[in-house]
Amino acid sequence: RIKNSGKGSAAFFDASMEREALARMKIEQSLRLAILEKRFCCAFQSKVDIRTQAVTGIEALVRLRDDEGVIQAPGSFINLAGELGLIDELTHLVLAEIVKSIDLINDSFGAEATISINVAAKQAGNPEFMRSFARALDETGFPQRFMIEVTEDAFVAKNHFQTEILPMFRKLGVGISIDDFGTGYSSLSALADITADEIKIDRSFITDIHKRPRSQGILRAIESLSEALGMTVIAEGLESYEELAYLQAATKIRYAQGYYFARPIFLEELKLATPTSSESRPGVSNRPTQQN
Ligand code: C2E
Ligand code: MG
Ligand code: MG
Ligand code: MG
Repeated sequence: RIKNSGKGSAAFFDASMEREALARMKIEQSLRLAILEKRFCCAFQSKVDIRTQAVTGIEALVRLRDDEGVIQAPGSFINLAGELGLIDELTHLVLAEIVKSIDLINDSFGAEATISINVAAKQAGNPEFMRSFARALDETGFPQRFMIEVTEDAFVAKNHFQTEILPMFRKLGVGISIDDFGTGYSSLSALADITADEIKIDRSFITDIHKRPRSQGILRAIESLSEALGMTVIAEGLESYEELAYLQAATKIRYAQGYYFARPIFLEELKLATPTSSESRPGVSNRPTQQN
């Protein structure tokens, strides 16, 4: 509208818009630079068996160290990285960091813990990227340790994701996880057509679950469907004892991930705090302090 409004249009491009455009350019520039300089790192968050409190897996959550050395969470750059076509490189950097740190990961979380990597729906819909990523996972020599987390949108997209891409990963032994379930566009019945190993129930259903009958109903439905389909259910964003108590008393959900058990933590932080003692793995008994 503004672009085509003719002669007087410059008047609409006011100072605040100029500031916005400049700010965006600055972010773009620093993002490109960060990729070039590999200024990304991962925080790792445990997935916990709520009955035994054992760490069954970890999820890699990417962080950006910006120009000023401040750590930025993905909310501030992931979408932009996608728009700029930089996200594939970022995912490969995440994998590279995991491979480089695998001994420390094993010491800290156990050598059986699965290692989850997030893949944006847009990436999942790009067969070229997915092929190159599968190859990279295979080249680690331990592809069976990995899981990829993809949101439900990727599964319902009308492409070859389910018929060609996923089988390729499955053949390597890479697990498939549906992230943020319940927030996308798929209906519960669409679950029946999805082949995945794990379904992560979005935090919005877990928050205050003990006080919210509607969320409880949704949880029950997801739970019974997943059980019928042979998928593991994991509750995301578990923050309180009350939420945990509800899951234990009223559901058969066995796995959870959330601040209550463990916050995302940097490996360097673990190295400082707990050299290699298996007594002090990040879990319930040893809640690491946040370093987000
Ligand atoms: P996600 O995969 O659903 O990850 C869970 C997010 O919730 C993480 O935020 C985590 O720090 C946060 N979280 C975990 N437990 C709790 C809790 O108890 N309470 C609350 N309030 N939050 C909790 P984070 O690290 O900021 O990541 C946000 C999103 O960015 C991720 O959501 C994921 O979709 C995306 N992301 C992260 N790393 C990557 C990556 O390497 N590649 C891609 N494509 N996306 C990534
Ligand atoms: Mg995830
Ligand atoms: Mg999630
Ligand atoms: Mg999310």
